[in-house]
Amino acid sequence: MYAEEDFIWLSALQHLAFCERQWGLIHLENLWNENRLTAEGRHFHDRPDNEETEVRGNIRIARGLRLRSLRLGLTGKADVVEFHRLCGDEPVSLGVALEGVNGLWKPVPVEYKRGRPKADSCDEVQVCAQAFCLEEMMKVEIPQGFLYYGVPKRRAVVFFDNALRKNTEELCGRLRELTARGKTPPAKYEKRCERCSLLEQCMPKIIGKDKKVQKYLENILSSGEGEE
Ligand code: SF4
Repeated sequence: MYAEEDFIWLSALQHLAFCERQWGLIHLENLWNENRLTAEGRHFHDRPDNEETEVRGNIRIARGLRLRSLRLGLTGKADVVEFHRLCGDEPVSLGVALEGVNGLWKPVPVEYKRGRPKADSCDEVQVCAQAFCLEEMMKVEIPQGFLYYGVPKRRAVVFFDNALRKNTEELCGRLRELTARGKTPPAKYEKRCERCSLLEQCMPKIIGKDKKVQKYLENILSSGEGEE
């Protein structure tokens, strides 16, 4: 069980799943690039965060719910958590009671993404980590959630199977390890770099090849030299 002061943001897990160096640049070196992709992403997320909780038939929709897991030491906010009314033939272990409302309800995390579904599993890891938090907070089982992609405007179901749960837990361990090490991982140019918001700052094609340049830049960043 982790104490609150040791909590790590859920978003850090997604950055790490995308690229360890991107995680280091953002979370150790506080680098962030407000480019078109991140601005659109923020705008895309504004809507779920800002709207009121609503009810649509047998679905109740909560936006911007605070999440935490003491077991994994994670905290953050869910874009959307839907509560679907539990049907008579479904196990009660899937449902929770909601204050002031009759019946049992199944929590279903829904994460919004601006772009298209990705080849890697970093989005799935993020929504699975949200499910871990909700399961612990509400003492319930959550078998699935959704990722909503802006292109095409469609939901994709995410099954929280053993493989995804194991992958997510292992990433939490790796996140702790790298946080304790406190050093940004080295740059290595890969296909994913082309959709990375920190491509310009990271310069993987240049410094990834030259170890001396990389070491020099790392030393500057860690010593704070060159900061205004
Ligand atoms: S540009 Fe590539 S190596 Fe650099 S942080 Fe982004 S994904 Fe990682």
